[in-house]
Amino acid sequence: LNIMSNVRKRKGLLELLVEGPVVGDGSMCMTLEKRGYCRAGPWTPEAVLLYPDAVKQLLREYMRAGADVLQTPCYASSDGRLKRGNINYTVRHKFHTSEINEAACKIAHEVALEGNALVCGGITPVLSYLHKKGDLVIRAEFTDQLEIFIQRRDTVDFILAEFFGHVEELEICIDVMKRSKMPIACTMRIGPLGDLNGVSVKECAVRMARTGADLIGLNCMFDLNTTLKTIKRMKKALDDEGLETPLMCQPLGFMCPEVENSLYGYARLSEDPFALEPRQVTRFEVHAFARAAYDLGVRYIGGCCGMEPHHIRAIAQELSAERGRNPPVQDMCPPCEWLKKSNITTTQKKTNLEFWMNLKPGCGRPFNPSCNK
Ligand SMILES: [Zn+2]
Repeated sequence: LNIMSNVRKRKGLLELLVEGPVVGDGSMCMTLEKRGYCRAGPWTPEAVLLYPDAVKQLLREYMRAGADVLQTPCYASSDGRLKRGNINYTVRHKFHTSEINEAACKIAHEVALEGNALVCGGITPVLSYLHKKGDLVIRAEFTDQLEIFIQRRDTVDFILAEFFGHVEELEICIDVMKRSKMPIACTMRIGPLGDLNGVSVKECAVRMARTGADLIGLNCMFDLNTTLKTIKRMKKALDDEGLETPLMCQPLGFMCPEVENSLYGYARLSEDPFALEPRQVTRFEVHAFARAAYDLGVRYIGGCCGMEPHHIRAIAQELSAERGRNPPVQDMCPPCEWLKKSNITTTQKKTNLEFWMNLKPGCGRPFNPSCNK
């Protein structure tokens, strides 16, 4: 095991970023909810203790799709959020941040060893910031999440603070994370309106870079097109200030143009969280997104809620020339030569990426609007 782990750690996140674009993993709690392993609402990650095999399999699918990084599946593993999620479990067991994060490290590490992936320890915003509990309490909640990643640094390659709605809270979190001495990445869940305290995208970008984080960007909440608009503003803000921090993005896997100018993105849709499927992006939309994001200068591209393994595969496939490698299941990627083996003659002719890239897919529901009013 030690030999394998040394081989795996030959290249860390910063070295990979210098070599070429890095592919992240995709949707975790939203996908586990569909599969029956996570509760919509609290979205807490007890699955790492209750159903470790299910969580492992999903991570394995991301790695098989071409992800270079597997995130510890512990979104919402902070004390305040776990208390919410624990309500239905009180009779059996109360879950704590430390045991959840410990299990998440073990799961991600074991899968990463199967395919030379890096493991990123995920840290979530805390309710004590929202409830204005004061600096000490907020820092303690971040420290709780970080502690296991420091203790299990043999299994974790870098730390990611993700899904922050307030840049002020993110600054506190990164200050706490510096204790780890590991590379630091961070993302905010903001759109063109900026953060929840009214801080502009431009100012968020500059402040994120000035924390000293090694990688900064966006995740969740907004669709591929809105994410591109916001990341473009971030890039310009960094360029204007002479800041060179590399950018990352892990967007939502659902199209939702009508909430572009909302602070809460897709959470404002009537369809959230149980009827989003007709809005799910196709892998070809992800191809186009990955290319556009790369052209804008984004160097770490993955997905958040709704971005499934085949979407991650599309990122790895689109950037295969830049990365010097194909996703592990390349022979199943479109334009797929195997379609020629189909018994259906019209299918046999679809081995052309142009055809798929130019397709306007229907939703199959004659009276559905394209956007929800
Ligand atoms: Zn998400």
